[in-house]
Amino acid sequence: MVHCFCYDRAGKKYNFLWDVESGSLHIVDYPAFLCAKNRYSDLTPDEEKDFSELTDQVKAEIAQELDGGEEAGVLNAKPLIDFFVKSTKVVKALCLHICHDCNLNCEYCFAGGGNYNTEKDYMSEETGRRAVDFLIQNSGKRKNLEIDFFGGEPLLNMKTVKEVVRYAREIEEKYDKKFAFTMTTNCLLLNDENIAWLNENMENVVLSIDGRKCTHNAVRHTRSGKDSYDIILKNAQKFRAVRGDKKYYVRATFTAKNLDFCDDILSLNDAGFDQISAEPVVLSEDSPMALREEHLDAICKEYEKFTEKYLERRKEGGKHWFNFFHFMIDLEHGPCPDKRLTGCGAGTEYMAVSPLGELYPCHRFVGGDEKYRIGSVYTGIENPSVRDDFAKLSVLSKPHCKECFAKYNCGGGCTANAIQYAGKPDAQYKMGCELTKKRLECSLAIAAIEKTENK
Ligand code: SF4
Ligand code: SF4
Repeated sequence: MVHCFCYDRAGKKYNFLWDVESGSLHIVDYPAFLCAKNRYSDLTPDEEKDFSELTDQVKAEIAQELDGGEEAGVLNAKPLIDFFVKSTKVVKALCLHICHDCNLNCEYCFAGGGNYNTEKDYMSEETGRRAVDFLIQNSGKRKNLEIDFFGGEPLLNMKTVKEVVRYAREIEEKYDKKFAFTMTTNCLLLNDENIAWLNENMENVVLSIDGRKCTHNAVRHTRSGKDSYDIILKNAQKFRAVRGDKKYYVRATFTAKNLDFCDDILSLNDAGFDQISAEPVVLSEDSPMALREEHLDAICKEYEKFTEKYLERRKEGGKHWFNFFHFMIDLEHGPCPDKRLTGCGAGTEYMAVSPLGELYPCHRFVGGDEKYRIGSVYTGIENPSVRDDFAKLSVLSKPHCKECFAKYNCGGGCTANAIQYAGKPDAQYKMGCELTKKRLECSLAIAAIEKTENK
């Protein structure tokens, strides 16, 4: 499969051929682009006209080039495999819901304001230790294991966080394991003591801020209804200042209220952050903040606008250089085959643990339909059919993914979104697909432009 697409930059048009199976990206001139697109997909009416104006000799020469690319395996390469079921033998990461409580009250919170629409719950130290035991017992020969501290707001239950880290460190050598810890925090309780401890003990820290002050304060309020931006930004900047080269990133969420999210991302960069992500909000379609198909054009244009700014800032370097997570693509190596085919691994190698120790495929399933409960850290896997069903989900098992040019970069999309928006785990969440494809085109263009122009 070859995806042919263009990218316009300051009056200059780039024509790309993306060979999906081999992962080869070709920049070609316009006649070659027309001939390739005519061969591998459909021309637009304007392109038909331009194609018809090419001479037979030009078409023949380009056809020869395309044949050569196919013979070399860098154009229209054949799929290496056509069937895949993920292993269910190894769990490598757990997301611990350290507490179902939060000191913020964000209007778009998928977790019902932090408590997942249930009673406020805090994970006990005992449940935390049992989660570590469960992970070790179910990790087979895998050495490197990951634990994510999640909420609600995990800083509200530092007692259990600290005990989990202490316990895991105490026993990791005995079982020949190595733990890496991540925390996602809203930053409100990031005082000097917490900053020092997280900096020392967390492999990665995710700081949630939504960008500009007006954007953030419009949706992220304290429990008493006050604005939270000033305190959160100050705390996050303090953390950034001590973090040095260790991993962290700031994570913004954009909604229908800030379709101009490019300015939010740039404002985070202006505030001193160089590792940034911005995620589309996940909400039921009747919410005024939900992203709907009618917003798609505006969002795609915003990604294009942001691509320009991103290229400019990275080229300029210095304090404005930054990474945007959705635009990071490794054309030389890319993700491992497993990840290319199945994405995040929810329900098989990755599970979420509720404050009471219940196991679910990922954080989005906690507090939801009990049919997705897999078991518990106390009793082990009790409903293996959930795990087995998730193991069968891959880009090769879903008809809509099989023919998608983004399949190996997407891994088949988010299963929780597929259920929420389209009713079943293997259904298509079309809006998410369009955004994934747009971001992939932008990231391929960025990779090619940075490689060719910024040498
Ligand atoms: S900080 Fe997170 S958990 Fe808390 S209300 Fe906001 S979105 Fe929900
Ligand atoms: S973008 Fe959509 S169709 Fe393409 S691989 Fe991802 S989920 Fe499948």
